[in-house]
Amino acid sequence: MALIVQKYGGTSVGTVERISAVADRVKRYVDQGDQVVVVVSAMSGETNRLLALSSAINDQPPSRELDVLLSTGEQVTIALLSMALSTRQVPARSYLGSQVKILTDQSHTKARIKAIDSEPVLADLAMGHVAVVAGFQGVDEQGNITTLGRGGSDTTAVAIAAALNADECQIYTDVDGVYTTDPRVVDGATLLASITFEEMLEMASLGSKVLQIRAVEFAGKYQVPLRVLSSFEEGEGTLISIEKNADMEAPLVSGIAFNRDEARLVVRGVPDTPGVAYKVIGPVSDANIEVDVIVQNVAADGTTDLTFTVHRNDIQKSKTIAEVVASELNARDVAIDENICKVSLVGVGMRSHAGIASQMFKTLADVGINIELITTSEIKISVVIEEKFMELAVRSLHSAFGLDAEAS
Ligand code: ADP
Ligand code: ASP
Ligand code: MG
Repeated sequence: MALIVQKYGGTSVGTVERISAVADRVKRYVDQGDQVVVVVSAMSGETNRLLALSSAINDQPPSRELDVLLSTGEQVTIALLSMALSTRQVPARSYLGSQVKILTDQSHTKARIKAIDSEPVLADLAMGHVAVVAGFQGVDEQGNITTLGRGGSDTTAVAIAAALNADECQIYTDVDGVYTTDPRVVDGATLLASITFEEMLEMASLGSKVLQIRAVEFAGKYQVPLRVLSSFEEGEGTLISIEKNADMEAPLVSGIAFNRDEARLVVRGVPDTPGVAYKVIGPVSDANIEVDVIVQNVAADGTTDLTFTVHRNDIQKSKTIAEVVASELNARDVAIDENICKVSLVGVGMRSHAGIASQMFKTLADVGINIELITTSEIKISVVIEEKFMELAVRSLHSAFGLDAEAS
């Protein structure tokens, strides 16, 4: 007998038939004697539909009310799945985040989980019931409904698995595991039998939305055994594993992530004096805007350019802030570019190998792609390039690093 937390994403509960298929799978686990907690997302498209409704009414809705609205999607699926289980004679009870309860901070639309009171769920499991929990939502100390950010049901599942000390947390989705890159972009992407937490964390933070980044953080921190699998096909999926010592055997590059969520901002002609980077980046961060890649050019004529990237949604706000600072500093001007993307190679094997960066740059040069910015860490190399070259870059790198399915 095992205690298993299963999470089903939007596509997996997107129709009545699919909810029924989920109920069948849950029943199979219950029949073999396992205790099961199921976390579900809203039906696919529902969260987007709710967002569209809210922006049709108010383009800057109060975030408290937005959370009240967005949390309704998951309320529908917990009830429907519990009903589907009930028709299969599997006793089940649904829980909203506030009923579990999943206590979060007060940051509406991107709340962080602070604590989980698992007593009600444990009591249900002890009685042989399946607990069906709404993903993506929680409640703050004052009783306000909060949500955890897009893709947040993954985090709900992992956090519950950690709180219950579950034997495994299974993330069921619409692909059969974690691939070397998004299989919807590269046909030849290869399914990975396992990937380390560290690599998965980089992949998630660099744009692979198969798991929400916080879910991976939680799983690593609390050592939750985590597996990504298909809800449509049988298979072992991908195990997110603790890093093995046998680093030598790790492939140089395990995966390629990419995103087009960022935009670039250049403050041109700033005086090359101490404190300038701080004076520009400081106010941007103070406005709660996350800054990603930062590059300061070598000065010529006593002035330099300071380049950084932010989320596209924050570009206009960042520009306004940077323009104020630029005029205070007597900088020449502020330019923005929204047509960029970031492509990243990830792999723990990079740690022990030099030469990956040069192979990456050569591959891109061979297909005529200009690199605008570069950033590296121990286990990743990211380049910022023109957005229109994104797919070409990902495909070329995927082949060059031997990740294509035929090559493995
Ligand atoms: P769910 O609704 O089940 O949470 P998501 O759409 O959030 O599903 O995540 C699954 C999607 O993640 C896949 O359909 C796939 O397009 C995308 N994806 C991006 N990168 C990867 C990757 N490296 N491996 C697998 N899937 C990936
Ligand atoms: N329904 C939410 C979303 O679409 C949460 C999730 O699916 O994980 O982002
Ligand atoms: Mg998701």
